[in-house]
Formats: sequence, C-alpha cells, structure tokens
Amino acid sequence: MLGRTAHALLALVMTMAFAVGGALITAGTAQADGCYTWTRTLSSGATGNDVTQLQIRVAGYPGYNSVLAVDGSYGPATTAAVKRFQAAYGLAADGVAGPATQAKLHALQDDDCTPLHFTYPELNTCNSTWAGGKVAAGTAKANALSSMWKLEALRHALGDQPLRVTSGFRSASCNSAAGGASDSRHMYGDAVDLGAGPHSLCTIAEQARNHGFNGILGPGYPGHGDHIHVNQGPSHYWSASGCGI
Ligand code: ZN
Repeated sequence: MLGRTAHALLALVMTMAFAVGGALITAGTAQADGCYTWTRTLSSGATGNDVTQLQIRVAGYPGYNSVLAVDGSYGPATTAAVKRFQAAYGLAADGVAGPATQAKLHALQDDDCTPLHFTYPELNTCNSTWAGGKVAAGTAKANALSSMWKLEALRHALGDQPLRVTSGFRSASCNSAAGGASDSRHMYGDAVDLGAGPHSLCTIAEQARNHGFNGILGPGYPGHGDHIHVNQGPSHYWSASGCGI
C-alpha cells in the first residue's frame, strides 16, 4: 500500500504527465485516477495495453463457465464482458468502453489498482514480498490483482455484501504449513479461499461459476468443507458435490 507521501508524489507525477501529454487527452476523458487512466474510448478492434488494463478489470464478467483472455485485443468476448459489466452497474450496455464505463472503473479502483473491496494484504497473509511461491513475486502479485477483480464482480453479483477471504497467496513454506496440495494454485497467487459469511458456501460457489474462475472447489471435495476455493490457473476443474457442482 502506498503511504501518504507516495500518494502525494504520484499525484504530482500524474499532474506533470498530463501537463506534458495534454494534447493527447481527448474531450470526454474520464477523471484522472491514482492507478490508471484511459485516454481514449475503447471498442471492438482496439489493441494495446489500455485494452489489457480494461480486460483485467472486466474479466469477472465473461459469462457462465468462461474465462476472458487478457490479451490486449478487443474482440467479441471483450465486447460481451464490457456489456455485462455495464449492465451490472446500470450503464447503457453497448459494449463500448467510453467515458461512463471508464469513470465507473475508476470509481471502483483504489490508487494501488486493487478493486474497492479487496486489498493486497488481504490476499497475502503469508509474507509481504510475494516471494517464495511457484512464480516470480511480481507475477504472483499480478495474479492476485487479477483474482481480486473477479472477486469484485462476484461480490457485486451477490448484492454487495462482504466476501470473507481466508487465504490467498502462499509461499511454498506457507502452503506446506497450511496443508495445501503440493501443486496448489495458492503458490501462484491466483487462488483465493472464501469463508461463509452473509452468503452460504454453496451460494458463493454457484455464483462463482459466472465470474471467470477456472477452479472452484467446495463442500464435497476433500478438505473443502469449510470454505470455497476459487482459482484462475490453466486448467478447468470444478468440484463441490455438496453444492451440486
Ligand atoms: Zn484454496
């Protein structure tokens, strides 16, 4: 998390960047943001890092049993995800990421780029460095950020009530201590365990199927009677027979 000084510095740097690059800012650009600010309307056919940044934030809206590719290319799946995001927040669902959509995304993110209702420390109670897992620290942290945007979508779909994170990133030693599987996605940073709270475990598991998680484990799967595990990861595996999944 950024401290007060870092925030001030970031604001200053951004102010300077806009002063220098002002000619590039088109009319209707959404308010500047401490994390990331888009400078153009994005729609089908667009490519670039700004599309990637958009995809990370709408990846929680791929539709049932789908995963949105975060590839910097605004194709039909991105259009569909943007439409679902827009509909979820009461915006005109045209599949074009213009000023209103970008403003909503800005409003949903903190200055460290995490979505409003999730934090890096919440996703990592193992260590502060994100090191010691199966991928480089920066990759693990980026994977966690990606998962957080999917959790934000899940949380919103469940009526904006809290989701209780009980485990996120684990180094190999933290994973061993927790009794995690030897190939656990927690060591990649993209797995999250959720406890019951306002929602039952099965409510969480059922809804998670719509928000881009390749892995869902819950009641009925060994060792998962008291939490729902969701992860990204390369392979699709859902198992929560106690929830009919
Ligand atoms: Zn887990």
